[in-house]
Amino acid sequence: MRRLSRVVHVGPVAIGGGARVSVQSMLNKPSRDIEGNIAQALELERAGCDIVRVAVPDGEAVGLVAALKERCGAPIVADIHFDYQLALESLAAGADKIRINPGNIGGRDRVKAVADACRGRGVPIRIGVNSGSLEKELLEKYGSPTPEAMAESALNHARLLEAFDFHDIVISLKSSDVANTVRAYAILAGQCDYPLHVGVTEAGTQRMGVVKSSIGIGALLLRGIGDTIRVSLTAEPVEEVRAARDILRALGQGSGADVVSCPTCGRTKIDLAAMAHEVERRLEGCEKRVTVAVMGCAVNGPGEAREADIGLAGGDGCALLFRRGEVLRKAPEDRAVDELMEEIDRL
Ligand code: SF4
Repeated sequence: MRRLSRVVHVGPVAIGGGARVSVQSMLNKPSRDIEGNIAQALELERAGCDIVRVAVPDGEAVGLVAALKERCGAPIVADIHFDYQLALESLAAGADKIRINPGNIGGRDRVKAVADACRGRGVPIRIGVNSGSLEKELLEKYGSPTPEAMAESALNHARLLEAFDFHDIVISLKSSDVANTVRAYAILAGQCDYPLHVGVTEAGTQRMGVVKSSIGIGALLLRGIGDTIRVSLTAEPVEEVRAARDILRALGQGSGADVVSCPTCGRTKIDLAAMAHEVERRLEGCEKRVTVAVMGCAVNGPGEAREADIGLAGGDGCALLFRRGEVLRKAPEDRAVDELMEEIDRL
């Protein structure tokens, strides 16, 4: 069952409170490259990114926040470290959410200034705890950045905001260690009702990063924990969005088509890999919630894919089209994918 959290709003996107799990990613072009960042943000949106984050290391980047707000549709999160002035300036530039750790901006008056400005604009704050930058006192208390230490750090930051009656909070607890990440979120989930931004940080390059993120994010979502997700990859940001969308789809929480294909074996007489990739490509962006099976043989294919809404099973130079396990007709191999698509359109 999904953990029930309070809801916060990032522009038009709801996080928590039972809202669908949203997908985030982060721009990675230099701040001065306004056009490059805008093109990247639009590409992320097209791939299904619900919320776009941008680093704000200096005043120049505040101009980028304003440009993104003017020319992109997705809500923009300003990612800030230490400098509360940059948070205030980003808010004035239209940021829809601020990522900052209140304990790191120095002094209650600064925390109050950011909390008041966010409240005034209805903008939430994400507290982003990272195992690599845990407070000294907590490292001394726990000996290392344990999951318990990370959860305690997040609650300490949250208390600073709560002291100024600010509760529009999202929390993330990231570690590059998958097991620690899962444990930390599980602890925190039982200690507060704030929505959680879930991800495995510094997960690695595309292949390993997707594996780590799928395990970490997947384990949490299966336990009902997680309201917005970010897959963190050393790759183009659009790959993060694709991976996040695939994770949600694999858990039955995404929109669009789910392609099921068999691993092939000695019975396969068609180029199934090419067909499966082509079906996947053509269904990218498809909004229909449909399960499509692409199976290697007619002996086991329709039966194995009985749960699918529609599918094909390879024969010798042809494929059988079937719908919910019932055979529809035979199609020549070179027409099979086209005919499958026509049947999907008819569903
Ligand atoms: Fe082999 Fe047919 Fe099963 Fe695919 S569906 S793995 S080709 S038996």
